[in-house]
Amino acid sequence: MATRDRTIENLIERLNRLPGIGPKTAERLAFHLLRVDQQEAMELAAAIEEVRKAVKNCSVCFQLDASNPCSVCADETRDRSMMLVVEDPREVARFEDIGYRGVYHVLQGRLSQVEGIRPEDLTISQLLQRVDEGEFVEVCLATNPDLEGEGTAMMLAEKLQKSGARLTRLARGLPAGSSIAQVSSSILSDAVEGRRPLL
Ligand SMILES: [Zn+2]
Repeated sequence: MATRDRTIENLIERLNRLPGIGPKTAERLAFHLLRVDQQEAMELAAAIEEVRKAVKNCSVCFQLDASNPCSVCADETRDRSMMLVVEDPREVARFEDIGYRGVYHVLQGRLSQVEGIRPEDLTISQLLQRVDEGEFVEVCLATNPDLEGEGTAMMLAEKLQKSGARLTRLARGLPAGSSIAQVSSSILSDAVEGRRPLL
């Protein structure tokens, strides 16, 4: 069997490392990129380069943005007495879509024994410092309603208990085991509206 060009193999291998892309799909994508107009393929490469150079984690809330502090942290009209703690930067966009006007803190993951993710792997110390130094009336621990998300929220609640801020969780209307990135906007709106005290 003839060996394939090394550069094609390299591309297939790199695509294969992306989440949800198996070897067959990686191969299909690679050959697709070789078949389309060269300009189109180059624009994809340029888009990856551009986004990786421009977008960074906000040094305050850790969401992804082209400016630092991010557009939310820099916005004087946001309600700085209300913080929504989320696992992932993708979730910020969901809450923005439904008109949330407070600020965020992105944990960059959640605690997981299976995946070996410990408190020090997340932005927990920065969260505690922000709450300590800020004037938050409410901190909503909006981690996902699954086992690891609940566990992370409980652990944070213990650490934030003495902060003086009211600790809440999204309403139970959010289906257990669901993910915030995937529920409909109306369910998410209801979940924010119906926040419940945690302790
Ligand atoms: Zn920010």
